[in-house]
Amino acid sequence: MSTVYKIFLCDVLNPVTDTKAKLTRQAALVLKRNKSGFKIHEIGPSKTILPKYPNSVLVDRSSMLAMPGFFDMHFHWVQDDVRLMPKDSLLEWLSKYTWPYEMKFKSKKYSKEKAKKFSKELLSVGTLGGAIYASIHGHTVDDALENFVGDYIAGNVLMTMNSPKGLSQTREQALTLIESLSAKWGNAYAMTPRFAPTTHPDVMKAGAWLAKKRGSFIQTHLSESENEIDYVLEMYKQMEGFENTDNYTDIYRKCGVLGSKTIMGHGIHLSKGELETLAKTKTVIAHCPTSNAPVKDKGLGSGLFDFKKTEKAGVRWALASDIGGGPFLSMFDVMQSFVQQNAKAKVKGATYTKALYRSTRAGAEVLGLSKKTGALEEGFNANFIFVPSPKGKTPEEALTNLHKPFKAKREKSLSVVSEAYFNGEVVYS
Ligand SMILES: [Zn+2]
Repeated sequence: MSTVYKIFLCDVLNPVTDTKAKLTRQAALVLKRNKSGFKIHEIGPSKTILPKYPNSVLVDRSSMLAMPGFFDMHFHWVQDDVRLMPKDSLLEWLSKYTWPYEMKFKSKKYSKEKAKKFSKELLSVGTLGGAIYASIHGHTVDDALENFVGDYIAGNVLMTMNSPKGLSQTREQALTLIESLSAKWGNAYAMTPRFAPTTHPDVMKAGAWLAKKRGSFIQTHLSESENEIDYVLEMYKQMEGFENTDNYTDIYRKCGVLGSKTIMGHGIHLSKGELETLAKTKTVIAHCPTSNAPVKDKGLGSGLFDFKKTEKAGVRWALASDIGGGPFLSMFDVMQSFVQQNAKAKVKGATYTKALYRSTRAGAEVLGLSKKTGALEEGFNANFIFVPSPKGKTPEEALTNLHKPFKAKREKSLSVVSEAYFNGEVVYS
């Protein structure tokens, strides 16, 4: 019989809420094997825990800090190579760099090779779950879900109007793909209108209906930049059934897209009424600070997400990298950007403790996994990463110190992850 218990000697940081995390120094992280892999059995000071397990395997990581793997709740895996391209504005960057690049994924061979490479990149930054945008090509969903290690959902972007030649599909083609991929992947599938301008409302309506029937998720972009909103409203007001629409959220509402399994990327420029609609329908916002950051910081300069107003309205939200609108894949970058941009704007409450919670537990909750993963709790799946343990008396101090070496002006992603474990097995080192 193989070992039942595996015990790591390390420091442990566990997110609890927006304002609370628990830091245990010199801890024992006890894993227990069951049919589906290792689960977390017990965490506590090693002194009191070790005597209870005399014959178990000990793994010494005493200079390391264990924390849950990240959930990145909005990223485009097919945009890895355009994340550092010049970004003057969202709509220009899309047509100039992003769309031509996504066309390459038509090749199944190219897609498969890229997926293998990207899977390693995700693990190297400690991401073990999230919500993925693929290209319009169905196989790019399969390649992501078959290769990426962790708890992911994914969807092919739907582009049935105002889309470039080579990256557009008929309504029928779009619906056929939703039909087959939602049947194949069920609740790991996300019906994914790219955004309202590129996806015909009839496709959104039929797709949302099908996604809800199959228990799949829905994801799209909402109110990222101001000229995008003008562009969307001008377009939709000329369409039948949308003549009286006066906001972006209402377009999605009319198409049946909103709901508790729907994730809206960005949601920066929303009115009070729109936030109320999102709250009422339990729709989630994926906030992508590195992507929204000023152009000089390699973002798209879309604006600062008002998390306070969002929370006050009762809207669920989680953090995300938005690769390639976002320049960096690492959620450490995302957390740092969230903290620094809000500090600069003198907004209080944007702590690292909050950023950590919104990068782990909040994402797991969106995917319906809050009782299984996203934190280091007894009974949870053993999904965690190791980073060099920073100094600090409180979790906030430790997290701040962990981010300190990272300069704002850089080309490369923050990478401090030395190992990643999924279901207790090492998947990156
Ligand atoms: Zn995006």
